[in-house]
Amino acid sequence: MRVLRVALEVPVAKLFDYLASEGEPVEAGDRVVVPFGTRQRVGVVIEVGDGSRVATARLKPIARVLVDAPRLSADWLEQMRFLASYYQRPLGETVAGALPPRLRSLKPLPRKPKAAAQASGDASRYVAGHEPNAAQAQAIARIGAALGSFRAFLLHGITGSGKTEVYLRLIAKVVADGRQALALVPEIGLTPQLEARFREAFPYARIAVLHSALEDTARTHAWLDAARGDAQIVLGTRLAVLTPLPRLGLVVVDEEHDASFKQQEGLRYSGRDAAIVRAKLAGCPVVLGSATPSLETWFNAGAGRYELLTLAERAVPGAKLPSVRTVDLRAETAQHGLAATVVEAIAARLARAEQSLVFINRRGYAPVLACEACGWAAGCNRCSARMVLHSADRRLHCHHCGAQQPIPRACPTCGNVDLRPLGRGTQRVEETLAGLFPQARIVRIDRDNARRRGELARTLAGIGRGEGDILVGTQMLAKGHDFPKLTLVCVLNADSALLSTDYRSAERLYATLAQVGGRSGRREQPGEVLVQTRFPGHPMYQALIRNDFAGFAASQLAEREAAGFPPFIHEAALRAEATTLATTMAFLRSAAQLVEAPAGLRVYDPVPHTITRRAGYERAQLVVQSSSRPALQEFLRLWSAALPAAAPSGLRWHLDVDPIEFD
Ligand code: ADP
Ligand code: ZN
Ligand code: ZN
Repeated sequence: MRVLRVALEVPVAKLFDYLASEGEPVEAGDRVVVPFGTRQRVGVVIEVGDGSRVATARLKPIARVLVDAPRLSADWLEQMRFLASYYQRPLGETVAGALPPRLRSLKPLPRKPKAAAQASGDASRYVAGHEPNAAQAQAIARIGAALGSFRAFLLHGITGSGKTEVYLRLIAKVVADGRQALALVPEIGLTPQLEARFREAFPYARIAVLHSALEDTARTHAWLDAARGDAQIVLGTRLAVLTPLPRLGLVVVDEEHDASFKQQEGLRYSGRDAAIVRAKLAGCPVVLGSATPSLETWFNAGAGRYELLTLAERAVPGAKLPSVRTVDLRAETAQHGLAATVVEAIAARLARAEQSLVFINRRGYAPVLACEACGWAAGCNRCSARMVLHSADRRLHCHHCGAQQPIPRACPTCGNVDLRPLGRGTQRVEETLAGLFPQARIVRIDRDNARRRGELARTLAGIGRGEGDILVGTQMLAKGHDFPKLTLVCVLNADSALLSTDYRSAERLYATLAQVGGRSGRREQPGEVLVQTRFPGHPMYQALIRNDFAGFAASQLAEREAAGFPPFIHEAALRAEATTLATTMAFLRSAAQLVEAPAGLRVYDPVPHTITRRAGYERAQLVVQSSSRPALQEFLRLWSAALPAAAPSGLRWHLDVDPIEFD
């Protein structure tokens, strides 16, 4: 008798036993159809044994084995086990979440499309972009020498230092060895240039591109290409790290500090951390690349766990990092949000036919619509948040739940008809700039006008060719783009992040500013970054001006150590939401008592989120910390087993291990 332990997509932390007949060719890693309740489901065989805790007479046989996709490999299953236990998620849900929807459905897989006639040739043939400079060559040699076994590298290279060239050359080596390379990037939709660059560099390689915006069939095909070993290169967002890769030889995580590597729902994994585990299991090197590494990674490199490789200069000969200057808003009042220095700098670029980028981290027209007579401000009915005024449709939008309302004709409290937009977002800045520079072509890029991927890609490509004089945008414009004619970046409301209570906000702001600043001066003309601020002496701005990431990181790490924050301790958050705050808080308070905390583990008091009400739910969270990772993991294991019974109906909760977002 063979007993199969099968992972099913159910929110219970256990496997289900089924019988396979003797001689039936089914092994761990196979997808099987099994009877479950009154219906059939697709599950994954995790183990094959010869006994069961369930009485044999009650065990049901599987219905059939699915052979339309390759068997999931042992190291893939190992990775799933690791993620499930580390992030406290049932294995069945973890496995299901890692498979494309089609592989968990009873529907047959889509047939392979007739391969578009791909020019045949050597997949490892690399069309060189440039001969590597000395620093690049050194990085390629160090990482290249580590191929074939696990080792973690931090490639710390300023923006434009040629990190991508390093990745591509290493990938060429890996493909020449007959192995697969996995390259993870924060967001593919925003950087279509990157995919194009990979395809140009490897004209004969099969490149599977994977991200969550792909439609079902395309995603299934890309996944199968990777899993069958047909694709030599897999380029994707965090979810690509969950793809089976039978011959994995190298993992690259570009912009490793980027918050989008952390999944914020379901299995709340860090794609970067999962990539390291993956490389370990596959016995291959992993390269984390960034101009502004996360403090966790910087700390690990400092401790010798990762080898640090540095690219300190821009790769294009003559290209320099932009000079960064603060514009002191206490000395110079801003008109409509723009200081005179900034307006003059933009005018100078216009006169020279160069591009400027105005960066403001807030979309919409104005973040507040208020009555100056009584102090009323438009709020969302479902959230404890202000409604944002949008000019395109002249409506109020909630950025937290998506609710919309028409603009009220008068103040609902006092009847005053003179309601004022306060503060500014991208749309209002665009309007102001249009008034100041009527001849200029202004292009605004934020989530409101970039809903369609194709359109965004076209707009970005146009900017790259020099279309548009002034660009206005949010962080969508900060990442990865290469705009040769851009020589000025103006940052409008950076200070708001410095005033945040989140201990990661300074780290994030530094990364964003370095990244957005890095868009300028990528060719011969030097770039300039102007940051409007009321705190020009702030150490974060001072470090940015000196391009002193190491100094900034050291001071941040010293603060984190003194205050007892990661990476010096490890933490997890239990978050809950219910229709009343009393219910949420009562649950969290009782949760804190459920499991006895081991020595050294600290359970903090529950705290409501800054925006407590969202979409009708009152939200709060409770943080646990320990300097011992194993102690924290053991506590979380016991806790997550006890929590389901403690949660009242109607309350939703989840655990977030290594959380990065606190409001
Ligand atoms: P990063 O990924 O570090 O921001 P990129 O790899 O995009 O940098 O390189 C920035 C620019 O430098 C690109 O235009 C690239 O073609 C160019 N480049 C890269 N390596 C070299 C080199 N060795 N010599 C000259 N130009 C290079
Ligand atoms: Zn009023
Ligand atoms: Zn809302």
